[in-house]
Amino acid sequence: MKRWFLALLCVLWAGQPRAAVLHHVDIVITGGTVLTMAGPNIENGGVAIDKGKIVAVGNVSGYRGKKTIDAHGNAVLPGLINTHTHAAMVFFRGIADDRDLMDWLTHFIFPAEAKNVSKDFVTWGTRLAAAEMIQSGTTTFTDMYYFESDVAAEAKRAGLRGVLGETLIDFPVADNKTWDDAVAYIRQFVKRWKGDPMITPALAPHAPYTVSRDHLIQTRQLATELGVPILIHVSETKNELQQVAEKQNGMTPGAYLDSIGFLGHDVVAAHGVWLTPEEIKVFAQKRVGVAHCPESNSMLASGIAPVVDMRKGGINVGLGTDGPAGSNNNLDMIEEMASAARFQKVTKMDPRVLSARDVLEMATIGGARVLGMEDKIGTLEAGKRADVIIINLQQPKTQPVYSVESAIVYAASGSSVITTICDGKILMRDRKVLTVDVPAAIAKAKQYRDQVVKSLQ
Ligand SMILES: [Zn+2]
Repeated sequence: MKRWFLALLCVLWAGQPRAAVLHHVDIVITGGTVLTMAGPNIENGGVAIDKGKIVAVGNVSGYRGKKTIDAHGNAVLPGLINTHTHAAMVFFRGIADDRDLMDWLTHFIFPAEAKNVSKDFVTWGTRLAAAEMIQSGTTTFTDMYYFESDVAAEAKRAGLRGVLGETLIDFPVADNKTWDDAVAYIRQFVKRWKGDPMITPALAPHAPYTVSRDHLIQTRQLATELGVPILIHVSETKNELQQVAEKQNGMTPGAYLDSIGFLGHDVVAAHGVWLTPEEIKVFAQKRVGVAHCPESNSMLASGIAPVVDMRKGGINVGLGTDGPAGSNNNLDMIEEMASAARFQKVTKMDPRVLSARDVLEMATIGGARVLGMEDKIGTLEAGKRADVIIINLQQPKTQPVYSVESAIVYAASGSSVITTICDGKILMRDRKVLTVDVPAAIAKAKQYRDQVVKSLQ
């Protein structure tokens, strides 16, 4: 054979596509606009998922899934991370709106909780909340409530990831009547759940004005000893500032917590509405994460947190809905993103200060950083746990799409989420929730509504 002919054959052979090696995996999502939140968006891309993990993002043509989900024309993004809520309070949704925090807490919430909160209440309340979160694209939630071990069991059952804080407060509550009871409960709770792949147990001292100095110091020590995070409300209202100043030599709540050695990278401070520039510096330096809850802060007229300044100052800021009872009243993280962006724009009188992309980051990788989980969740990258949602962009309210971030944040809502996957498990597909008996949870909500009304008469 002529040498030139052989050379030609070689060139032709090299140009041929190799026999493709197909990887068989659990789920392949195809054809969507993928917001990895770790780099530029990928048009007509996909995500391959196997054994709970993301194995490929972008071009997934080499992957064949046991299940294939066509996301053509829709957005694929990391599951949303709610950094502050009280899930079971869905059963108090709308019990007393249009009041300030102290009026709402002392005249409605604390009495209603004393008379109604039980293991059953928390179990079913969390179940209803789980359905709502799955339906609106939340895959990780941060909770502060009572009977938190039961919250953990419900989160597991629904397939959600949870950072779950058992409440510590200086008066008798539904699950623990004394401080010592609460500490004993927490030791058991942490022992039961620490190391669980989906559940991070945490301590949740309610706030600097409802937990004494000694108890806050004990909480700090206990969290360090047990190696678990602390969730706390900080600097939420002007009234809190006043109460703390009166008892603590004129100090602001953040400065007071710092003075007793409470702050650290394992602390998630909800709200931070009234943080001073000095406190912002301290929080950044101590790596305290902040859960910004714009809808709660506006609903209770608490104020608007200095989010732009916090971010500029180097604080990790995530988003939270807060409880759904009179301080929101839903668990919709997409609405929360829109509110976060809009409130900062009007506060600074500058529409550029917080963009749709910024709040999407806060609801995903930002939230993961607040919870110290950025190696595990918050972006779509190979090797991370597979928490993935798909948002329908083909509704009248999201068309046409000039910017996918704009369509998600300013035009879509929680009900635009069509598929929710957490840890590689499909929790909702085509709007059908697969892990929660939704009608049963709604029936229970109606029952509890009647019981709560009676209990307050
Ligand atoms: Zn709260």
